[in-house]
Amino acid sequence: MSESGVVDITILGAGPTGLAAAYYAGHRDASVRIVESLEQLGGQVAATYPEKHVYDVAGHPKIQGQKLVELCAEQGLQYGAEVVLGEEAKTLERVQAGGEELLELTTSKGGRYRSRALIVTAGHGAFEPRKLAIEDIEAWEGRGVHYVVREKALFRDLACVIVGGGDSALDWTLDLQDTARLPISLVHRRDRFRALESSVSEARRLEEQGRVRILAPGEVRRIHGDGRIEAVTVEDTATGDLHEVPCDALITLLGFHSHLGAVAEWGLELEGKRQVRVNPMTMETNLPGIFAAGDVAGYEGKITLITIGMGEAAIASNNAIAQIRGEKVQPKYSTD
Ligand SMILES: Cc1cc2nc3c(=O)[nH]c(=O)nc-3n(C[C@H](O)[C@H](O)[C@H](O)COP(=O)(O)OP(=O)(O)OC[C@H]3O[C@@H](n4cnc5c(N)ncnc54)[C@H](O)[C@@H]3O)c2cc1C
Repeated sequence: MSESGVVDITILGAGPTGLAAAYYAGHRDASVRIVESLEQLGGQVAATYPEKHVYDVAGHPKIQGQKLVELCAEQGLQYGAEVVLGEEAKTLERVQAGGEELLELTTSKGGRYRSRALIVTAGHGAFEPRKLAIEDIEAWEGRGVHYVVREKALFRDLACVIVGGGDSALDWTLDLQDTARLPISLVHRRDRFRALESSVSEARRLEEQGRVRILAPGEVRRIHGDGRIEAVTVEDTATGDLHEVPCDALITLLGFHSHLGAVAEWGLELEGKRQVRVNPMTMETNLPGIFAAGDVAGYEGKITLITIGMGEAAIASNNAIAQIRGEKVQPKYSTD
C-alpha cells in the first residue's frame, strides 16, 4: 500500500472468489485491500455451511466448508493484503489524486478507500438472515437465538429447537444428534418438508426412537426466559393447540435475504436483479476499471460454483493488473 493508502486493487467481498482474486493479484505484486461486510472471511461458505463437506473443489476430494475457506484465506492473504471486516460498501466515486484517476469506495462505517481498480466479488450481496415474525426476536439475539450453526460444540447438551423445512433445518436436526440434548425439536409451518427426502425419512425414523420431536405444521409464537431463552411456545396450526417446549437454543434456519444494495446503484449494468453483467473474457463490467467475479458476475450460461468463481478471479485480477500497468494480459506461473 502507498503512503496515501491507495492500493492497486480493492476487492469487495471476502468469499472464496474474493480470496482467490487477492491471491492472483498478490502473486503479480499488486497491492490489495479486501472490504467485507461480515465480521469474518469466507462468504457464504463460512456463513451458511461451515461444517458441511464440499466435494467438487479441485484438489480436495472432500473438505469441510470452514477448512476450505481457511485454506483460501491462507493462500489469498499470503502477500499481505489489507483486510477490512465489518464494513459494507456504500458509494463509489471517481476522484483525481496524485495525477491519476482513482476509484473511491466509502463504507457503512465511514471508511474511504482508494484504488486503481475494483473487483466486485460480492456473491449475492451483503446478506441477512430471514427472521421469525415474533415482535421481540432481535432482543433474543445473543441470548439463545441463532441463525446459523457455526460450531457444533456451542450446542453441546443444549435443548435445541430448530425451525425450518429446508435442507439446512433437516441437516442440522440430524447432525446435532451427537451433540445436543435429545430430543431435538423440529418446527416447520407446513406438514411437508422441502428438504431431501432421505433426510426427512431419517428424521422421521429418529422421531420413532424419541431422538427428534417433529412439530409440523407448527409455528413458534413466543419465546420465554429470564435473560436467556428457557422455552418457546409452539402453536400446532392444524388444531390451534399450544405447546410449551423447553429450549436453550432456538436455531431458525429460514434462509437469507441478500441484495446487491448500494452496488446496484453505481451505474453497473446488471444481469437480472442479482448479478453484475461482465464480459466473461476479461470479467470487466461496463464501467472502466471495475471488474466482477464469482456468484455476483453474470453472463449467458453462467454457473455459480466455487470453482468457477476462482477461475473468474484469476481472469479478473490478471486483466485488472494488465489495465493498471498498460500491459498485455500475460498469465504467470506460480511455480518456483
Ligand atoms: C448450502 C450451500 C451449499 C453449497 N455447496 C456448494 C458446493 O458443494 N460446491 C460449490 O462449488 N458451491 C457450493 N455452493 C455455492 C458457493 O458457496 C458459492 O458459489 C460461493 O460461495 C460463491 O463465492 P463468492 O466469493 O463469489 O461469493 P460469497 O461466498 O457469497 O461471498 C461474497 C462476500 O461478499 C460480501 N459482500 C457482499 N456485498 C457486500 C458489500 N456491499 N460490502 C461488503 N461486503 C459485501 C458478503 O458478505 C460475502 O461475504 C453452496 C451454497 C450454499 C448456500
